Amino acid sequence: MAKQTMLKFTDVPRLMPEKRAAEARTDDFDEIYREFADEKAKEQSSRCSQCGVPFCQSHCPLHNNIPDWLKLTAEGRLREAYEISQATNTFPEICGRICPQDRLCEGNCVIEQSGHGTVTIGSIEKYITDTAWEKGWVKPIAPSTERPESVGIIGAGPGGLAAADMLRRAGVQVTVYDRYDRAGGLMVYGIPGFKLEKHVTERRNQQLTDGGVELRLNCNVGEDISFEEIRDTHDAVLIATGVYKSRDLRAPNAELGGIVRAIDFLTASNKTGFGDHVPEFESGELNAAGKKVVVIGGGDTAMDCLRTSIRQGAESVKCLYRRDRANMPGSQRETANAEEEGVEFVWLSAPKGFTGDEGQVTGVRVAKMRLGAPDATGRQSPEEIEGADYTEDADLVIKALGFEPEDLPTLWNQPELEVTRWGTIKADYRTHATAMDGVYAVGDIVRGASLVVWAIRDGREAAEAILARFDNAAASIAAE
Ligand code: FAD
Ligand code: SF4
Ligand code: SF4
Repeated sequence: MAKQTMLKFTDVPRLMPEKRAAEARTDDFDEIYREFADEKAKEQSSRCSQCGVPFCQSHCPLHNNIPDWLKLTAEGRLREAYEISQATNTFPEICGRICPQDRLCEGNCVIEQSGHGTVTIGSIEKYITDTAWEKGWVKPIAPSTERPESVGIIGAGPGGLAAADMLRRAGVQVTVYDRYDRAGGLMVYGIPGFKLEKHVTERRNQQLTDGGVELRLNCNVGEDISFEEIRDTHDAVLIATGVYKSRDLRAPNAELGGIVRAIDFLTASNKTGFGDHVPEFESGELNAAGKKVVVIGGGDTAMDCLRTSIRQGAESVKCLYRRDRANMPGSQRETANAEEEGVEFVWLSAPKGFTGDEGQVTGVRVAKMRLGAPDATGRQSPEEIEGADYTEDADLVIKALGFEPEDLPTLWNQPELEVTRWGTIKADYRTHATAMDGVYAVGDIVRGASLVVWAIRDGREAAEAILARFDNAAASIAAE
């Protein structure tokens, strides 16, 4: 029976959902991939060979039951596919859109390894849950019983919200504190709409608040409320604050106007997309329109800045990266999308300093590089080619050099909160418990800049550990 429906990878070629043409998609911030039509989703699911040991599943951080939901989709049993998909993933439609599948599930699909092209797992995951939303199968959280315990979660990104969802389903009283005016963390203010449209995150926020999760927004812990107060108010605390300190560039004239941080640029763009009044965007300071833009960096944040600049109407958009295409950290799929949209990549190029006029940047002094011997990690180190410097014209330079954690023990006056030498919070890798009793930590603030799917996994695991703590405490009271 299974063989009739499945294993069609030799007959059915791999197909992604239709991608909008570059000229059309650069006019707006809408997602670039359209939804699969029902028949196409069925057909693509039927390519799966139903592996006995599914490598796709073992390389998914959430260990999603991929072969089962593919088979159910191929058979047209979408509601059951949705039930299985949502059992292991709090936000399947978000992961389906923005996981780097080529490095995770799809990159490890055996069909890909055998040269037939991977099953398009991410797009099918998105299709299943988007359909579930459309059909009304995604229900508000309705705990069968209310529990007396409360948890304070600091940070409304995917890590904090995944934990909030699980705790609330178990009947726990949950308050999420966030310094931003909207919940979602980097899913709302970092990642642009052309990868993840804002309504997708917004409807999840609504689902949480409809289910009784209290969101306390515009509340900066350490300023508007102290960490002690949160700890005193709740039975357990979860820190999910992400990493926001931008790595900087030390180079001559780096303080010139027009040299900005990626997170500021992207946040301004995302807020503008919501219709908010953003003075730095309106003044042109954080707006690429009509400018020669140079983005420094080769990761996913750099890709997002490049493609945002194109959509804002920049005159030209270039990416400087000190290694070559094969050695860049950003996703190859996103790089190809950026190129289609008109971004020019200047490989093996590193900024050495900036030129300016009346306090404003006019260019980037660029050192040309070559790749030398591999370092201890096996990665080839870039070396400067003497005498090959030149100036790249620029009137907006965006630094996308990565993020580091803020110094939370100092900011919150909590010296017992142990951190690693990189400043990330030390937490048990399974329970996510920190050195402070009843305090847990998840997501980027523990891992360093990572992925939404890992934050979701951490948040779900921490919620389980917190529930186990409450159950143990209740059991010992009952035994007394
Ligand atoms: P965050 O999402 O950063 O959320 C932390 C929250 O804590 C924020 O809302 C913040 O306001 C709040 N907060 C911080 N300090 C305080 C405080 N003192 N008081 C109150 N609130 C506080 N990942 C992918 O998987 N796919 C992608 O395509 C992708 N693209 C990315 C693009 C960009 C530009 C960036 C920057 C990141 C991208 N990532 C991507 C990474 C991903 O967004 C993060 O790994 C993920 O959001 C981390 O989740 P988190 O819950 O740990 O933290
Ligand atoms: Fe793949 Fe991410 Fe979905 Fe896991 S959560 S199946 S890695 S897209
Ligand atoms: Fe199907 Fe590929 Fe996963 Fe095997 S590895 S179960 S073929 S999706």
